[in-house]
Amino acid sequence: MTPQKPDTTEIAIVGAGPAGVAAAVIAARAGAAVTLLDENTNAGGQYYKQPTLTESGHKYPNSLASNIQQGRELLAGLNHPGIDLQCDTLVWNVSPEELVLYLCGPTGARALQAKRIIFSAGAYERVMPFPGWTLPGVIMAGGAQLMLKAQGLLPGRRFLLAGTGPLLQLAAVQLLEAGADIAAIVELQPRAEFLRTASKLWGHWDKLGQGIANQKKLLQAKVPIKYGHTIARALGENEVSGAVIMKVDGDGRPIPGSETTLEVDSICLNYGFIPATELPGIAGCAQYFDYNFGAYATKTNENLETSVAGIFAAGETCGIGGADVALLEGQLAGAVAARQLGLDPDTDEATLCQKQLQARTVAASLGKMFPVKPGLCALATDGVPVCRCEEISAGEVRAAIRMGVVQLNQLKPWTRVGMGRCQGRICGEILRQIVAHETGLALQEIQPFTARAPVKPVLLEEVGGAVADTGELTWEDHVGGYGVART
Ligand SMILES: Cc1cc2nc3c(=O)[nH]c(=O)nc-3n(C[C@H](O)[C@H](O)[C@H](O)COP(=O)(O)OP(=O)(O)OC[C@H]3O[C@@H](n4cnc5c(N)ncnc54)[C@H](O)[C@@H]3O)c2cc1C
Repeated sequence: MTPQKPDTTEIAIVGAGPAGVAAAVIAARAGAAVTLLDENTNAGGQYYKQPTLTESGHKYPNSLASNIQQGRELLAGLNHPGIDLQCDTLVWNVSPEELVLYLCGPTGARALQAKRIIFSAGAYERVMPFPGWTLPGVIMAGGAQLMLKAQGLLPGRRFLLAGTGPLLQLAAVQLLEAGADIAAIVELQPRAEFLRTASKLWGHWDKLGQGIANQKKLLQAKVPIKYGHTIARALGENEVSGAVIMKVDGDGRPIPGSETTLEVDSICLNYGFIPATELPGIAGCAQYFDYNFGAYATKTNENLETSVAGIFAAGETCGIGGADVALLEGQLAGAVAARQLGLDPDTDEATLCQKQLQARTVAASLGKMFPVKPGLCALATDGVPVCRCEEISAGEVRAAIRMGVVQLNQLKPWTRVGMGRCQGRICGEILRQIVAHETGLALQEIQPFTARAPVKPVLLEEVGGAVADTGELTWEDHVGGYGVART
């Protein structure tokens, strides 16, 4: 099979969230030909997700209106002749030497060669397992928000929100405004610790103001906030009918005898976020361990260049930072990439860089407020599934650890964890927590799964153009196991 010649562009951007959109707009205004790719149907990413239904048929809570409007204003910038926005297009592989991206979209599989690539693929929500966490009715808090934002849907009637971090209270307010009943918010951090660390945000009035406004709304609606608690079990046969919550000690370990049962039909979880680093990982971009958020992220220099020539990273993929950081980093990456192509963007990169660093400092303070505590691993008792795709239990993982298997890449062939549809995006962080808890290793000593193409499921028939004839594959290709990614 003769491989198709790749399409070409000057700057290819993966991910049309705040970072990717900001990068595209700045670079296109400077005169660059930009291709902006997103697997979603619309641009906007997670924070600026836009309603997919027509305006007249769509309801969303008041608290989301300004968010949706801000997103609309940002996305208006994409209406520029230099920007080719391609939605419903998954980037499933990258070849760093030639700066070629492999895409799968409405017109089938293609390759796209760029002079510069910007990865702005965002983040995933982090979860910690407990008995019943795979029951229908247990979803992620961000997932519930997205259903509200994009489709005006409430995923249940009576909710428990559990985990740690500011998203719990924000999502609760949005669900409340959409007519939901909130049984409780269960926050892992003890109240005193929460207030002590919150005081570090002194001076950052917008962040404090948002938090206080949310707390006020929750207080008015008489929503109990249980600090220093965790969800311990989801109840129900075929779907959620209740939840057991428990007090935790300083390590996050549930305290026996402190159980309370709540009647709910939906449980929304969030334990913060994990940077999406698969594509930079395949490209060979160096990563660093972000101690503030307890996860690996893509390493960049102050200009947001990664360790691989021609490849930039911006937004959550470089470390959890929030939408403000993503916007600033998108602008900076777009401007620097355009300047490297000999263009003259209308930006002051030094100022952008300074603002971005300040915004990252605030984000880091927030991250430190909401650590995932190791004692939570006690909830993943041996029968609890930790890799839902391959149905591998915590007990099977512990048995492998007892045999001396302590790195995720070793656990994978040993137990099949991380080999399913999610490719380790959900279970990878859970496994790192369990290995750390069982072995006493520090989280940063446990390397993430090696990223492999295709980063997300693609149909073999769709990527046929990028598949070599099996006759052309060598034994090394086969033992690599990913002939599909070869051209
Ligand atoms: C579910 C969820 C809910 C959130 N809710 C909030 C909130 O309410 N408030 C808040 O402050 N922050 C929220 N965040 C954090 C928020 O993501 C960031 O602050 C902000 O959106 C980061 O912008 P970004 O551009 O870096 O990434 P994102 O906005 O996440 O955008 C990344 C984009 O990349 C696309 N993408 C990823 N991989 C590929 C691929 N291989 N091929 C093609 N496209 C790809 C995704 O579809 C997405 O559109 C949420 C995050 C998540 C994951």
